[in-house]
Amino acid sequence: MAGLLRNITGWGRSAGRAGNHALDASGLGQQALIGIVENSADPIMISGPAGEVFYANAAYRAMAGITGDSFIAPGVSKLVRGDAGQAERLYRLQKAARDNIPAEEVLSIGAGGARRHYNVRVTPLGRVTPLDNAAPAACWTFLLRPEMPAAPDTMNHVFDMADNAPVGIASARRDGRLNYINQAFSEWTGIAQDMVLAGGVSVFSLMEETPLPWELDMAAPDIGITRAALRAASGGLIPVSLIYAVRRDAAGEPCEVHMMLRDLRDQGAFERDDLAGIESRYSRLFDVAPVGIVIVDPDAKILQQNAAFQQRFHEKSARGENFLDMVDRDYRNDVRRKIAEALGNGRQDGHTEIQIGAPGATRSAQLFVTRVQDSGAESAALYLVDITEQKHLELQFAQSQKMQAVGQLAGGIAHDFNNLLTAIIGYSDLLLGRHHAGDPSFSDIHQIKQNASRAANLVRQLLAFSRQQTLKPKVISLTDLLAELNNLLRRLLGDRVDLNMTLGRNLGRIKADQGQLENVIINLTVNARDAMGPEGGEIRIRTENVSASEARALDHAWMPPGDCVLIEVSDNGPGIPKEIIGKIFEPFFTTKEVGKGTGLGLSTAYGIIKQQGGNIYVTSEPGGGAVFRIYLPRHDEDDGEAAAPVADAEPADLTGKGLILLVEDEEPVRAFVSRALAGKGYTVLEASSGEMAIELMRANSGRIDLMISDVMMPNMDGASLLKEIRVLAPNTKVIFISGYAEDAFRNNDEQLGEFAFLPKPFTLRQLAARVKEVMGNN
Ligand code: ADP
Repeated sequence: MAGLLRNITGWGRSAGRAGNHALDASGLGQQALIGIVENSADPIMISGPAGEVFYANAAYRAMAGITGDSFIAPGVSKLVRGDAGQAERLYRLQKAARDNIPAEEVLSIGAGGARRHYNVRVTPLGRVTPLDNAAPAACWTFLLRPEMPAAPDTMNHVFDMADNAPVGIASARRDGRLNYINQAFSEWTGIAQDMVLAGGVSVFSLMEETPLPWELDMAAPDIGITRAALRAASGGLIPVSLIYAVRRDAAGEPCEVHMMLRDLRDQGAFERDDLAGIESRYSRLFDVAPVGIVIVDPDAKILQQNAAFQQRFHEKSARGENFLDMVDRDYRNDVRRKIAEALGNGRQDGHTEIQIGAPGATRSAQLFVTRVQDSGAESAALYLVDITEQKHLELQFAQSQKMQAVGQLAGGIAHDFNNLLTAIIGYSDLLLGRHHAGDPSFSDIHQIKQNASRAANLVRQLLAFSRQQTLKPKVISLTDLLAELNNLLRRLLGDRVDLNMTLGRNLGRIKADQGQLENVIINLTVNARDAMGPEGGEIRIRTENVSASEARALDHAWMPPGDCVLIEVSDNGPGIPKEIIGKIFEPFFTTKEVGKGTGLGLSTAYGIIKQQGGNIYVTSEPGGGAVFRIYLPRHDEDDGEAAAPVADAEPADLTGKGLILLVEDEEPVRAFVSRALAGKGYTVLEASSGEMAIELMRANSGRIDLMISDVMMPNMDGASLLKEIRVLAPNTKVIFISGYAEDAFRNNDEQLGEFAFLPKPFTLRQLAARVKEVMGNN
């Protein structure tokens, strides 16, 4: 061995290598040098021109698994096993040694399971004449890579994966020469992996066009994706998607390009698969959309429709039918225009509201139309949002708003009329007092009074509608009320009408003005009788408890909160036409001949029920009769009030004495009342306003026995006046006279104290009786 090393150092000198000069310069002797190399912890090997081992140190021999004193060691290729990557890297090192250039690669070396990764460096030693005339020798040093020992198989595993990957993988030098291809690449191109390792295949010969990044002379981005075509072994081209990464050397110069290629020949199938997926997703979305969607051709013939459309708008609609046939006649032109607009300019200008559906079951919808350009054929997509419920509520709301406005108007008119009627009736009374029954004027005056009283009745109905009448509610049993009413109703309805009552078991009680509620029921039955005509028919009255939750579940705009009681009056007459059903609760709306109907029946009923905290609804199918349903709040507790007191018998003698302050802004009323009271023996002080009344009260401090006052007056109203009077003269008795309901100002009892009430219009007798009654309570 010593001889061999001596030779080597001899080559070194003749090769003129810098390292070897240094060795000499160090002044170390050859033996010492040999010792250092032999005992180096890193494996070192000197190879000859054919790769044969000239020398291997102890560490190399150990790495090769040689035990004992043998100096014979195997070449590196015997130690390197594994995949193509290993082989390729070894090849590069061997080539470098042959080419007399330095190189470095990572190799996995070892026997059995003890494989380790080394940085293997080839240092050329130049041509050594004494041994070989032509070929150079090289020194191989092996530096153990410290980071790899934990996973000695990782490298192999990675190489295996690359080799067997389902995509093509290749690597090429800057000059285009391939230095690695995996199996897939090899199969596609028919180039054996060995041929590539031998370095004879250029990437340019395998690609139809110069692939990026060579095309840009390595100026392309370091990582990129492009399309390319690979020349197939079978002839023809394989379309590939090519992902590349440019590797740079230590100086930053591109030196290698790694490539991954995906065969795009199956792309069509991919796309078809994708398309099928998209289509099934789309049709799912189409069907579960919360709006109806219909695709139609330019003539509105249905090409496609979703499930929501059929469920919500037209169960039986089918492909090929014309969409317009499903639309209510009145809206067809709108739909036609919308489709034409969308197809014409492709714009979608807001929506239009339509009625659509099977006859008798039409629904309201908002319709949006857009153009659909589908592979040349033109069609329109119609989107329908169901707004039936919303419309219904809107209508109900508008209706209740209207009723409120009309009520206010009616109330105002009624109030003015009451003042006029009070004066007319009052003056007739005064006149009647001066004419005896035998007098020719007597009957005329009587006629005036009677007609004024009829007018007063009408006004009372108006007030009922505007909910401004005085009610006397008490807790009552509907069952009892209907039982009592039964006979009267039968008489009213006559022989041709069957009256059937179904009264609910354990029916809850209600709090209502019995007389008014009776009026409502009579009104509804008489209307039903009139509607059915001389032929007659059947009227049913049904009562039932309705729980709070059932009430809430009903499709009504407003329901009394809590438990209710239902009174239903239905008939089998002709029903109420759609056009007028929204108007029947309005005052003066009637379809009856002049003189027969006033149009106040239902409006009165409406007002009465509303005033008692309930609601009344009507439904009617043409030809199927009408159903009126009244919901009143259930009121089971006794309110302790005795039944309405029977009107006190009027005193026979209506004359009296005392000082009365009369406050009334309406001159005719004031004049009549004043005269009437004076006629009965009272002294009357007149005031036309609250302010004037206070002055008079002050001036006559303590002498005034009774104040009679209007309620609604400009500036100071009756209630404010009373509050002042309570301070000035707390014991003064008070009677309010008003065309409005007592409840309208009774809600502040504490401050107002005790007072009596006389609704307008009143007769002279009623006035005198009330005054006598209140004054008498001295
Ligand atoms: P009137 O009875 O004086 O006409 P209403 O206010 O009581 O006034 O009724 C208003 C209109 O409502 C009636 O003229 C009629 O057209 C309609 N109506 C009321 N009840 C029914 C019913 N049961 N069937 C058909 N139409 C009805």
